[in-house]
Amino acid sequence: MASTRRRRAGRPAARKGKKHVHSFAPGQAEGGAGDRDLLGGKGANLAEMCRLGLPVPPGFTLSTEVCAHYYANGRRYPAGLEREVEEALTRLERALGKRFGDPANPLLVSVRSGARVSMPGMMDTVLNLGLNDQTVAGLAQRSGNPRFAWDAYRRFVQMYGDVVLGIEGEAEDDFDPFARALEELKRRRGVSGDTQLGAEDLQELVATFKGIVARHAGREFPSDPREQLWGAIGAVFGSWENDRAVAYRQMNGIPSAWGTAVSVVAMVFGNLGPRSGTGVAFTRDPATGEKRFYGEFLMNAQGEDVVAGIRTPEPIARLAEVEPKAWRELQRIQKTLERHFRDMQDLEFTIEDGKLWMLQCRTGKRTGFAAVRIATDLVRERRITREEALLRVDPEALNQLLQPIFAPADVRRARAEGRLLTKGLNAGPGAASGEIVFSAERALERAARARVILVRIETSPEDIRGMQAAAGILTARGGMTSHAALVARQMGRVCVAGAGELAIDYRKRTLAVNGRTLREGEPLSLDGSSGEVFAGELATEPSEVLSVLFGGGQGVKGPVWRAYSELLRWADAARTLGVRANADQADQAETALAFGAEGIGLCRTEHMFFEGSKIDAVREMILADTTEERARALARLLPLQRADFTALFRAMGPFPVTIRTLDPPLHEFLPHEEHEISFLARDMGVSFERLKAKVESLAELNPMLGHRGCRLGITFPEITRTQARALFEAACEVARATGKAPRPEVMIPLVATPRELALQAAEVRAVAAQVFAEQGREVPYLVGTMIELPRAALVAGELAREAEFFSFGTNDLTQTTYGISRDDGAKFIPLYIAHEIFAADPFARLDREGTGRLMRIACEEGRAARAGLKLGICGEHGGDPSSIEFCQALGLDYVSCSPYRVPIARLAAAQAALRAKAALSAPRPRARRR
Ligand code: PEP
Ligand code: MG
Repeated sequence: MASTRRRRAGRPAARKGKKHVHSFAPGQAEGGAGDRDLLGGKGANLAEMCRLGLPVPPGFTLSTEVCAHYYANGRRYPAGLEREVEEALTRLERALGKRFGDPANPLLVSVRSGARVSMPGMMDTVLNLGLNDQTVAGLAQRSGNPRFAWDAYRRFVQMYGDVVLGIEGEAEDDFDPFARALEELKRRRGVSGDTQLGAEDLQELVATFKGIVARHAGREFPSDPREQLWGAIGAVFGSWENDRAVAYRQMNGIPSAWGTAVSVVAMVFGNLGPRSGTGVAFTRDPATGEKRFYGEFLMNAQGEDVVAGIRTPEPIARLAEVEPKAWRELQRIQKTLERHFRDMQDLEFTIEDGKLWMLQCRTGKRTGFAAVRIATDLVRERRITREEALLRVDPEALNQLLQPIFAPADVRRARAEGRLLTKGLNAGPGAASGEIVFSAERALERAARARVILVRIETSPEDIRGMQAAAGILTARGGMTSHAALVARQMGRVCVAGAGELAIDYRKRTLAVNGRTLREGEPLSLDGSSGEVFAGELATEPSEVLSVLFGGGQGVKGPVWRAYSELLRWADAARTLGVRANADQADQAETALAFGAEGIGLCRTEHMFFEGSKIDAVREMILADTTEERARALARLLPLQRADFTALFRAMGPFPVTIRTLDPPLHEFLPHEEHEISFLARDMGVSFERLKAKVESLAELNPMLGHRGCRLGITFPEITRTQARALFEAACEVARATGKAPRPEVMIPLVATPRELALQAAEVRAVAAQVFAEQGREVPYLVGTMIELPRAALVAGELAREAEFFSFGTNDLTQTTYGISRDDGAKFIPLYIAHEIFAADPFARLDREGTGRLMRIACEEGRAARAGLKLGICGEHGGDPSSIEFCQALGLDYVSCSPYRVPIARLAAAQAALRAKAALSAPRPRARRR
């Protein structure tokens, strides 16, 4: 690691607000890995690799502050930038003994984007910059390889035309005019590969490409290298605001204010001849996390060929045979980098005439499987601590481990039926079936109604929204590090890449493979773990983790299970928040327990009502005209509810079970179609007209703010009494049968005033006393309330005199704080996020300033009124990592979420606790001396 002294000496001076351009060369650099906010991830790591003395082509980075200035000042650069770039260029020229624009010995550069966090393929890059009709001759002469020089030149015109001058394909076949001209020339020459074109052919192609530029851009191709350079710098800064970068930022919560840096790097060439090449590699397998150097390379190619998936590369291990010296050095470097960064690295390299150059290194994107496995392996290898391992895994990534796989029996059947179409690369694990779509737009359109599989020849960054909408992605071209593979892994999408046997016709919307043709809309199945592609749908079954958790001892405890269970064990030891689940049925409770829940934080009793014959009794209760009629219906309901609660208490054993009294508007339980009303009328022995009139009388204009929550229990106390009786009788029964008392916590919903709570709590306590007297046993229980209304939060001190616990119902609390209907907000919330009015959907991620402020008031005033008041959350936010972090800060006792999010919440809670601990022990900023 670079010494602190060197680090300080080399730290960029931009903090003074002056320096915008930071140079780097092997052995020395202005800045390093700690400067990613300023230099972007790429610039910072290029500098860091230089500090480590690794072979990096020299260059310089224009900081993210330039980007911020550029956008804040009508796309103008800060004063003095031009001079700084000139000075950096001069340094570069001196270091390499070449000159920019020198016809005899030209310096060529690449211009690369690099934000603080990697945004793979979303922004632009220009390679081979500095070529023109004069310098191409110098390059040809110096390299002794005119073909290479003209190839570099034609690539440059094409890339510059696309990225800087905005010339793209219009047709749906994705062929841009440059690619079309290249294909046309190959056809005329009767050759199939680009490499079969000679120097003269490529020279002709450059002329054709320049003609395309003149036609499409209405201007000549710029021949002055400085004009080229500033054009490229402007385009790369400009690409921060392109559609795909904006979409990517929105999906990943990256603020637009961060901006990108631009790195200008001396070119090294992987297409100089048979002893040159380029590749990408990971220090561990990014799909499975296995500890093996993993990647691919292409000889005689430029990096873009690999990343764009245009040619299918060779596995990295082959490099040992092809270029043994470069291979040995790469091995040494990959180990150095992983040791230095203490994490799996993603490397980009080029071999120029047998010499290895490192072009990039960054923390590698990985699947959820790999994330968990790498983190736990690194602990075992003593590279990182358990705490670091816990903080390294994105809790959401655990989702992938909990996804189903295809049922092996169904896979065997599909194979026997000849439905195995082909095999590609297993780029994104998991199993997905869905209908075929051939474009991102179509994927977005259909995904609202069906699961879709996006099938593309290759994907490009324009496709990301469609990829996000799809259940799976299949490509015909490209390797494990192609765009499709990288992005799919990051999104957690199932992906099979580079299935070369597929013939995809975008115009006809068909996919032909091994004599079969499938059309858009037909079902297709992808096994992202084996790379197999099947016609039709396949049944799924639990993943390794699910099979161990739910397989009744039959599950196989492989490496995924071992890593998962180890990480979650550490999480449980680190966290201070309890994790409960929202569950209404015994089977859900069992699932939640298997996932590690420590109680039920919310049982929505109304969900129990929709089962079997219960709904009839419920409807009768609601439609009853007299108290006697209602009592009859409730008497029918009582044993049914009691049985439900008994099952729930049995399943949960010693863990607390929070049971909420009836909450939703009664209208939700009623039939609305005429034929349903008429059936029910017959069953109840009342006339159709009478029942219809009753249903209509219960309709409300705004039911979510209407007759619901505790208002029902206040109007019809017999409902609360019946529910209380059912649950206390069930608790006594389970206590008797098992010898262990369950721990019910009765929760009153939608309370706004202390008196509402007092009345409902009194009903519950009276019933409890009655039941205990009847049964001759007592079961400890709590009565508490939900905090779902701003008023409740504001009078929490008074509520806490009655309530033994609070549970934040943040779905309703968000709804009532914002005045946005939770059922209708989806119409405009995405737009609000796009306009940065909201940083995120407040129904998914807790709004800390508004809703959160109310919660804070409730916590503080509640606990001030009642020491030891139990605090929890049961809104959807209880399973969201960012919201969990806030709950930790509020000092809640537990979070409660849906069963499948319990593992995610356990890890998120551990992270929250660790971050809180780190913040406490961090040195406080010293007061400024006066
Ligand atoms: C809530 O409002 O956050 C809550 C948990 O209750 P429900 O979603 O049932 O309204
Ligand atoms: Mg609610």
